[in-house]
Amino acid sequence: MRYGKVHKGFVRSIIVIDSPGCSWANCKFCAVHQQVADGSTALQQIEEVRDHIPQGEQTLQIVSGASFNDYSDKVQAAILLLAMDKGIGTLILEQRSEFRYKIPPLNKFAKDRGFKIEWIIGLESISREDRDFLGKEPIDSNYYNLSHVYQHVNILYGHPTKSFKILKKEISKLLEWYRTVTINIYEPPTGSTIHRDQEKVEELYSSAEFQEWLKDERVDIQDSDPRAQSDFGGIDTFER
Ligand code: SF4
Repeated sequence: MRYGKVHKGFVRSIIVIDSPGCSWANCKFCAVHQQVADGSTALQQIEEVRDHIPQGEQTLQIVSGASFNDYSDKVQAAILLLAMDKGIGTLILEQRSEFRYKIPPLNKFAKDRGFKIEWIIGLESISREDRDFLGKEPIDSNYYNLSHVYQHVNILYGHPTKSFKILKKEISKLLEWYRTVTINIYEPPTGSTIHRDQEKVEELYSSAEFQEWLKDERVDIQDSDPRAQSDFGGIDTFER
């Protein structure tokens, strides 16, 4: 089942659909751009979950790992129509910074039709060196300014170039600017040249900060390790 309700932390419903790939396709830690689909599976998956989404759902996130504007016009329209038909209060979408100029008209489109869109950016790191190591796209803005466009941010931990000390600084800074922060603990996709640094992961799990983040509804930790208590609405994304 591709629809689920997240009860812990940031409460929302999610649907998981296939990615169309990613036009950046350069991040060394990412499997999304290897999963290029023509969009027809995403359309089919949206139809499959439609009847499971209750009318008037408060918050619905579309999860695919890709940017909204990487989808074809047809899939973009299907997602927006789903939100309108179901009377969704807030639709949460992901968007790379390259496409951020497309966000204001989409926000207006939603507002004119009685719903709201909130946006996730996959920053992964606020260190330029770390982002370069990971192969992330360059960003021609600062992270504070981006928080006027994006409400939610994803960052990566468990790869060799980020210390736990830096992670703590990142979380504290990003929580000043963004509504929620998701820490994705790195799981290398097949063929990745970057390994998971388990020593760093253990440092996180044994820390006082980890216990605090578990209680903080603005911080979400995603890992296949049960200690993370990851809640993804019962959808097993680690198997996908
Ligand atoms: S921008 Fe996102 S989807 Fe594209 S390659 Fe990087 S992590 Fe993957």
